[in-house]
Amino acid sequence: MAREIIIIGSGAAGMTAASSARATDASARITVFTEDSDIAYSPCVIPWVLEGMSSWEDIVMHTPGFYREERDIDVRTGIRVEAVDGEGRTVTAGGETYRYDALVIAAGGRVFVPPIQGVGLEGVFQVRTINDGRRIEAALKDARKVVIAGAGVIGLELALAFTALGKEVTVVEMMDQVIPRIADRDMAAPVQAYLEEKGIRFVMNAPVQAILGEDRVTGVRAGGAEHACDMVVLATGVRANLDLVTQLGLDVGQLGGAVVAPTMQAYRRGRLVPDVFLAGDLVQSESAVMPGPTMSQLGSSAVKEGRVAGINAAGGKALSGPVASPWVSVIGDLQIAGTGLSQGLASWYGIETVSGKAAGSTRARYYPGGTPLTVKISADRVSRRIVGAQIIAGEDATGRINWLTAAVVEGVTADDFLVRAENAYCPPASMVQDVAIKAAEDLCRRLNQ
Ligand SMILES: Cc1cc2nc3c(=O)[nH]c(=O)nc-3n(C[C@H](O)[C@H](O)[C@H](O)COP(=O)(O)OP(=O)(O)OC[C@H]3O[C@@H](n4cnc5c(N)ncnc54)[C@H](O)[C@@H]3O)c2cc1C
Repeated sequence: MAREIIIIGSGAAGMTAASSARATDASARITVFTEDSDIAYSPCVIPWVLEGMSSWEDIVMHTPGFYREERDIDVRTGIRVEAVDGEGRTVTAGGETYRYDALVIAAGGRVFVPPIQGVGLEGVFQVRTINDGRRIEAALKDARKVVIAGAGVIGLELALAFTALGKEVTVVEMMDQVIPRIADRDMAAPVQAYLEEKGIRFVMNAPVQAILGEDRVTGVRAGGAEHACDMVVLATGVRANLDLVTQLGLDVGQLGGAVVAPTMQAYRRGRLVPDVFLAGDLVQSESAVMPGPTMSQLGSSAVKEGRVAGINAAGGKALSGPVASPWVSVIGDLQIAGTGLSQGLASWYGIETVSGKAAGSTRARYYPGGTPLTVKISADRVSRRIVGAQIIAGEDATGRINWLTAAVVEGVTADDFLVRAENAYCPPASMVQDVAIKAAEDLCRRLNQ
């Protein structure tokens, strides 16, 4: 009899799991349930659609019809899975019950909504789906002043998009720097300065205390001051959506994500659950930097985990290793990227770091079109292992951060990196000695002091 695979969620994790399951087992019956009305799109592009660089239609890569005809995958949109029965191996959705042999839960995350007055007022938005984007787009038409709560990369990308549309934008942030969790203060500062030059106002050290208004929003109180606005977007972080995970009694870790094996199988009371796989924003992963868990919550991680979950759910064999969670954000003319631990996260984990930094150009200095490039690499003072890196540049941050991610994941020391590192060179593409190698030189010098 054909294997019945049910996948809950049509995001990066769920749709990758579905396609990977199909590539593994040609005869399985694969059904995807999703609450969303659109599938196969990346929420990561929403800020650019709002800015007008693409359309909601263009970012949808495939329809349910494509999956039905090309991959024999049944995608049911607009249906919420209400219940899962692990004993009877069934899910209940839209009043019907469906049996499974293997279940993949890829239900994603939810925007963290601070427990404050006014979050339910008209004019307060979150951004997670295309439909959220459409609602924000409609509201922007009548809005002049927008407050964004949260100066993480999503908040900053939205802030720049709204500014490009001529809105007066204020970003309120509870910490004293932008991109506070994953970027170091010295790397984040140029990004804030760049955005301030574009006219964005920042209110730092200012947790949102209340959203003001009678029926609709008229302002935000943050850090003791009131900021008038017509619209608020909460970019206040993401929490794992554990509704179905907890219904099944699956293990949840100390960071608030579901615990998974390298096969992406779930655990219940410390024992593997053979037929339930989890992937995407709802799981916590093993950190590549240090023993223990981390929350990746990135589109790239969701795809990697979804592939493994889908293959294994279909009876194949695949593993997902520890993660360094490399990220990149494009803020106007700037690219900022990171991997592994920021200094803030390292000290949270109790790791004392030493950092090396170098500045140069993305191309040979004499070749036109190059942009400034700063690379910072951090190592654990005791083991001298590279634990993180960050880059600011006008171009080509991604390739360099992927290179440094390999060093983090392999557990390479700063000394070994310097001994072994080589870079490709051509004047229009790099300096003859890449700035990352100069940063490693600086790091080794400082480790030896
Ligand atoms: C604005 C924005 C920008 C971002 N930028 C980047 C970026 O540049 N780079 C990057 O790597 N990441 C980025 N991310 C993060 C990235 O988008 C997420 O990590 C990724 O989408 C997570 O995928 P997922 O499949 O785990 O979850 P989701 O995409 O959230 O999918 C969850 C799915 O589960 C469904 N679902 C949930 N519960 C149920 C239920 N009970 N029944 C049926 N269906 C259910 C939902 O409808 C949805 O289809 C960004 C996110 C946002 C919002």
